[in-house]
Amino acid sequence: MVLSIFKVLWNNLRQGPSTDPFPFGETFTPARLRGKVTIDPDSCVGCGVCATVCAGNAIKHVEREDGSGKDFYVWHNTCTFCGMCHHYCPTKAISQTNNWSTAHRNEDKYKKKEHEFIAYARCPECDQTMPNMPHAMLDHIYGTPTEELENIYSLCPECRRQKAAQQFGAHIHD
Ligand code: SF4
Ligand code: SF4
Repeated sequence: MVLSIFKVLWNNLRQGPSTDPFPFGETFTPARLRGKVTIDPDSCVGCGVCATVCAGNAIKHVEREDGSGKDFYVWHNTCTFCGMCHHYCPTKAISQTNNWSTAHRNEDKYKKKEHEFIAYARCPECDQTMPNMPHAMLDHIYGTPTEELENIYSLCPECRRQKAAQQFGAHIHD
């Protein structure tokens, strides 16, 4: 009996403390943990699908008055880490990191947010601002888009319609 106690003590001394060192040291985090949300503004088309499906109502899009784009906010305190935003995002511009550290002082609660500016593109024909059509979106729709398709999608919807009508008219006269 005494011997077995010594054996346990010896093993414990040999192995050292087994408690988690956090917050004073690094802790183990599973690689696929669904943690804080992050946004890639270059891939975002500003479609708003993520905000529509957000279970926690944690996503807010605010259009800038000058029409240059929109501010994209994700409130970490409201996020439920459900992953719906990433699942439904057509370009996977929104995703989750494995960072789960959300502890903060109460007075900092409104600072716990992700913020990105989603800049709109300008139509090369009429200079109208419009939501971006990033490569990721064209790839999603067409696989490998041709140069002609990329040129068409750089136009605003109105110029795109006019171009399509001109091309259609040219075909009729041929
Ligand atoms: S993150 Fe994705 S779903 Fe959300 S607005 Fe951007 S492209 Fe749309
Ligand atoms: S993980 Fe869920 S709750 Fe969090 S921002 Fe995405 S959709 Fe909203």
